[in-house]
Amino acid sequence: MKNIMFIAPPAAGKGTQAELVVEKYKIPHISTGDILREISKEDSEIGKYVYETLASGKLVKDEITYKLIEERLSRKDCKNGFIIDGFPRNIDQAYEYDKILKKLGYNVGNVISITVDKKTLEKRITGRRICENCSAIYNINYENSSPKVESVCDQCGGKLYQRSDDNLESFETRYQTFVEKTEPIIEHYKKQNVLTEINGDDTVENIFKKIDKIIKN
Ligand SMILES: [Zn+2]
Repeated sequence: MKNIMFIAPPAAGKGTQAELVVEKYKIPHISTGDILREISKEDSEIGKYVYETLASGKLVKDEITYKLIEERLSRKDCKNGFIIDGFPRNIDQAYEYDKILKKLGYNVGNVISITVDKKTLEKRITGRRICENCSAIYNINYENSSPKVESVCDQCGGKLYQRSDDNLESFETRYQTFVEKTEPIIEHYKKQNVLTEINGDDTVENIFKKIDKIIKN
């Protein structure tokens, strides 16, 4: 089993694919968000620091994040492969990640870049509606995933709402940040011959088939 890193813009379906890989290959899903939330519950100096930083909406210092990632990756369950998610977010972090891997005797494995054109991502984001009762997800911009009755959940009759950051302005900011910070990471891993690009404008099943093939290769 190889390690896996996904690189994808917002709404490209990265989370869904990560879940499918975890299910099939029984490897841990290492997300920096989860690591930070976990440590913030601990009654230690670093736990308190992370708790307060997250609560104030600030970013946790890189050196702390690196330390926590190294600690998490050194655990036994990562020896047979893992998916890293939400990290590295910029080229400096990618260099640091390479160092951590080297230190632990790991390879970067497969870096999978899921590409979806911007117009499609906009359509996915602005059309997304969520049931406030059962969390079912709909998309009013696609006929086959629209609710039968406007603003009403097919499954439970609950009311559908739109997440506050699922709007064009917020998407534009997130997308620009992604392009700016991620392009150099993609180039970096291309040079190492570990990057595969796949087209994410496809069904969940088809995208997973492509990913599965890369993992098995
Ligand atoms: Zn519902």
